[in-house]
Amino acid sequence: MRVSENVSLRPYNTFGIDATARYFASLHSREQLETLLLDPKYATLPRIILGGGSNILLTKDFDGIVLKNDIKGIASIREDHDYIYVKAGAGENWHQFVQDCIAKGLGGLENLSLIPGNVGASPMQNIGAYGVEIKDVFHELEAFHLRDREIRLFDREACAFGYRESVFKHQYKEQFAILHVTYRLSKSRSSIPATAPLNRNWSAWA
Ligand SMILES: Cc1cc2nc3c(=O)[nH]c(=O)nc-3n(C[C@H](O)[C@H](O)[C@H](O)COP(=O)(O)OP(=O)(O)OC[C@H]3O[C@@H](n4cnc5c(N)ncnc54)[C@H](O)[C@@H]3O)c2cc1C
Repeated sequence: MRVSENVSLRPYNTFGIDATARYFASLHSREQLETLLLDPKYATLPRIILGGGSNILLTKDFDGIVLKNDIKGIASIREDHDYIYVKAGAGENWHQFVQDCIAKGLGGLENLSLIPGNVGASPMQNIGAYGVEIKDVFHELEAFHLRDREIRLFDREACAFGYRESVFKHQYKEQFAILHVTYRLSKSRSSIPATAPLNRNWSAWA
């Protein structure tokens, strides 16, 4: 893992703001994150966990370390009569993940297509669109406590999801790095709720 100095964040936020981070690291595993947090050079610095950078507004240079969560991987981890449980790395692109699930015939995420960002941020604000929120298909997530340096599992109840809300925006604000998220997806495709406004082009996967 390489930690770079004085990195422009322009490619890492959708506003394209050219703020500079004093340090920047792309993290591909929990172990890399832990190693970095144990390094006295970086341990006490202010930090930002960055996903796809689509919901972050940089107003000035950042005199700390930006930890870009690039943990990848998608796998079905179990199955029951009606559902498949799909675990995805926080660094997976959200829309691509949704497309992959649709291509595999799995249902539940269709309405959340095209939302910018990465998997790891999806529970942060319980992303939603067209009558569906991720809480409807959420199973659990694995997060790393940045101070205690331990993994904790959160089920749906523990996340305290609300409208564009979760415990990670309040009680646990900036305390955890979300590493993986597991979704419970239906073996059959979902239909779009009849009451939802249809502004997007759904024909690509109808
Ligand atoms: C054009 C546009 C359309 C949008 N449409 C919708 C919509 O329809 N519905 C909706 O709900 N949202 C929508 N959003 C908001 C945005 O897509 C979501 O908030 C998305 O989840 C942000 O993901 P990200 O990876 O880009 O997060 P970032 O911008 O990188 O980060 C957002 C916040 O989450 C934190 N964070 C990110 N990843 C992690 C992690 N792994 N662990 C811990 N903290 C983390 C960051 O520190 C930051 O505080 C839209 C945004 C844009 C720009």
